[in-house]
Amino acid sequence: MPPEVPGTRRDCELLDRSDPLAAYRELFSLEPGTIYLDGNSLGAMPRSAVTRVAEMLSTEWGHGAVRSWNSAGWLDASRRLGDKVGRLIGARPGEVVVCDSTSVNLFKLLVAALRYQAGRSRSVLLTHDGNFPTDLYVADEVVRVAGGSAAVRRVPPQDLAGSMGPDVAVLLVTHVDYRTGYMHDLAGLTAAAHAQGALALWDLCHSAGAVPVDLGAAGADLAVGCTYKFLNGGPGAPAYLYAASRLQAELSSPIAGWFGHASTFSFEDSYEAAPGVERFLAGTPPIVSLAALEAALDLWQGVDIEAVRGKSMALAALVVGRADDRLAPHGVRVFSPREAAQRGSQVSLGHPSAYQLTRALAERGVVCDFRPPDILRVGLTPLYTGFVDVWDAMEIVEEVLEQRSYEDERFGVRLRVP
Ligand SMILES: *Cc1c(COP(=O)(O)O)cnc(C)c1O
Repeated sequence: MPPEVPGTRRDCELLDRSDPLAAYRELFSLEPGTIYLDGNSLGAMPRSAVTRVAEMLSTEWGHGAVRSWNSAGWLDASRRLGDKVGRLIGARPGEVVVCDSTSVNLFKLLVAALRYQAGRSRSVLLTHDGNFPTDLYVADEVVRVAGGSAAVRRVPPQDLAGSMGPDVAVLLVTHVDYRTGYMHDLAGLTAAAHAQGALALWDLCHSAGAVPVDLGAAGADLAVGCTYKFLNGGPGAPAYLYAASRLQAELSSPIAGWFGHASTFSFEDSYEAAPGVERFLAGTPPIVSLAALEAALDLWQGVDIEAVRGKSMALAALVVGRADDRLAPHGVRVFSPREAAQRGSQVSLGHPSAYQLTRALAERGVVCDFRPPDILRVGLTPLYTGFVDVWDAMEIVEEVLEQRSYEDERFGVRLRVP
């Protein structure tokens, strides 16, 4: 049943009052007077990150120093945090590590997938138009590095299932599209890949912490994702990498670093991959960033993701409803799928002056973001965003459009980060 859309601000107040997730808001640092609808780009800061990082710096680094590799659990952090991410994406313990960036993890897994399939005469990397830029760039470079008959095949997103020929080695899909918010059928496409003997690699950057994900139930092979968006791990927080345990022994990382060695501190001259998913680690992990991320992941451990999804859909219905009723006359169109089940946790709105609009809204305390060519993204993060927030934000969007204040010259000056 589609959630009922509140028709007044008072309705929104009542919904916030009965919201089972309402208590989480206090756990985040949110600026008074600002409505933050950009948690799909950089999640808000959990207050616990401040104490966790301060403690890490003063006690673990300040006092323990090098001894903390043993005494403070630094050596196991990549795996320990990996398991905490794993619980949010349907992975079993030992299937996820936290390390590097999404881009680097993607490189490692795509090369591993092509190598795995090399003996099976499969060399095509199948992906889709409009995939996140880094995914497309890395895919192109991976086939150059792999050489031979390796090639990228890029098709419209709706053609993926039908393009799965016997030459496909690996399917690379971003589960929730960063621009449109469209959500692919993870289980269905994984099954289609498997039916043709291909591996399925999922980019979960806009999925983990936003929508329920069950890699295990879907039988997915590989996945990557970042932790600074819906998971709130902090700017530049390390990413994660998932490899199904049934495949791990047959996968090898192209970045054979000492942290992926079976015995890192034996200082052997030659490489021997660690038995499990740790074989995908490369170098020394960023312990300070991991401390902030662990605070964020600990906050997530008690969260009911189905409740998050339900509230996210209701918030999105409010955005779509208000956009149709109040913003459409000003040239705004809903660019995301209208079907809630096909949408992640964002609503993309199209407007010819979306960039200027985004800037004007920021000045009015509504933080969204712009994506080319003309998209205003409204990110919905149910842990710290309520119905009144969204109601008020949509009122401000309407005001800015009505008054045409976004047409002021200063909003046309492009910032380096849109
Ligand atoms: C944000 C995002 C990334 C980010 O990659 P990094 O290497 O971690 O900066 C990758 N893929 C998708 C789909 C994203 O949305």
